[in-house]
Amino acid sequence: MVIGAGIIGVCSALELQKRGFQVTLVEADRPAAGASEGNCGLLAVGSVVPFSKPGTFKKVPGWLLNKNGPLSIRWNYFPKLIPWFLEFLKASRASRIQEISQGLAALTEHAFDAYEPWLEEAGIKDLLKPHETLIVYETEQEYRDDVANLQIEKDLGFDYEELSKSRLRELEPSLSDQFACGVRLKGWYYFADPKRLVTSLYDLFVRKGGTVVTGTVTSINVENGRATSVNFCGQPPESFDNVVVAAGVWSRKLADKLGDKLPVEALAGYSTTVSDPGIEVKHAITYAAGGFVITPMESGLRIGGTIEMGGVDSKPDFGRAKVIAEKAKRVFNGLKNVSGTEWMGYRSFMPDTLPVIDRASSASNVFYAFGHGQIGITTGAITGRLVAEMVGREQTSIGLAPYSARRFKD
Ligand SMILES: Cc1cc2nc3c(=O)[nH]c(=O)nc-3n(C[C@H](O)[C@H](O)[C@H](O)COP(=O)(O)OP(=O)(O)OC[C@H]3O[C@@H](n4cnc5c(N)ncnc54)[C@H](O)[C@@H]3O)c2cc1C
Repeated sequence: MVIGAGIIGVCSALELQKRGFQVTLVEADRPAAGASEGNCGLLAVGSVVPFSKPGTFKKVPGWLLNKNGPLSIRWNYFPKLIPWFLEFLKASRASRIQEISQGLAALTEHAFDAYEPWLEEAGIKDLLKPHETLIVYETEQEYRDDVANLQIEKDLGFDYEELSKSRLRELEPSLSDQFACGVRLKGWYYFADPKRLVTSLYDLFVRKGGTVVTGTVTSINVENGRATSVNFCGQPPESFDNVVVAAGVWSRKLADKLGDKLPVEALAGYSTTVSDPGIEVKHAITYAAGGFVITPMESGLRIGGTIEMGGVDSKPDFGRAKVIAEKAKRVFNGLKNVSGTEWMGYRSFMPDTLPVIDRASSASNVFYAFGHGQIGITTGAITGRLVAEMVGREQTSIGLAPYSARRFKD
């Protein structure tokens, strides 16, 4: 059984099926109901420097004081966030930044080759656009502030190209002329509809004989170090040989019940997709000062980003989607209309930005695959491959130590 039909669960189900397993994919709502729907779609291969990178701490107070800034915290939830922030602090040490970046790079360097056969088989190669992501800077200083992080990425094999003001305008003529310079991130392509990516892969899984069930898994029953059955849909417990927990941020509850107290938090993000923006855009664009991304999706121009920490049960504040959509007007000449379809999704975020890809401590046939933060679309296919290798008791194609479920136990 695979729990959760987001990008991680669907890719895991396909890879398991490929190895001959009979797979049941259980989804509480519908495929891509969680974070995998309205995100920015980047194959962000070089996004390997963790959120706890140097400079983040310095910026946090300013961000929090600005109600329209890129980060907000629901203060009534803050006490529950303290353990997460303590781990975040530990993950900000220079030596950890290097280790974490290597751990993320080990995943992202396989992002494309892990997806390629599935895109081909599902007939959706058209979804991956060949244009590389641009970062745009309002001042040279903003660019210089970013160079240390770009250099870490470069050292790990993810190169970038500096772009002058005029070169930026040449590549993307709709950009406003307020940008002093930019960079082009090598190999950072984008999916022009992450929801279609997930639903097409889900359909492929079904076509190949996979079983899908709509229902919420409430618990996994364990005896003598093995999961014996799963409770879902309010039916009598059903047994499975192996269980994969790929329920995004909701995985925490299931892991908790299995005795793994993991510091996974919901970092809400928002997007607005403008179906008639009135401008042409080819590249995905990261607006450095605004802290958000603009992607030309099939359904329109998507403006997405921001972080809100208030727990998984907090009510969305779509004002945050409107704030970034308004700011996007500054990025382009001629972008007048920014009203569109608003969306909110929870990134399941570990304090060190590394996902959890591991076995449960209390059950040798339960496997975790969650906590992919801001790069779950990028790392979906490679995570699926690793999950299937673990379940099949194969040697995994990369070492899984960085993604251990036990790394927060000192
Ligand atoms: C604004 C924003 C922009 C982003 N941009 C990018 C980007 O450009 N590139 C990138 O790589 N990543 C991006 N991300 C991150 C990416 O969206 C996530 O990392 C990824 O979608 C996580 O996938 P998932 O399958 O782990 O979780 P989810 O997509 O959240 O899926 C989990 C699924 O499990 C189901 N579920 C939950 N509990 C249960 C249960 N008990 N029983 C059964 N089913 C259950 C849910 O209904 C859901 O469908 C972005 C995220 C946000 C919020």
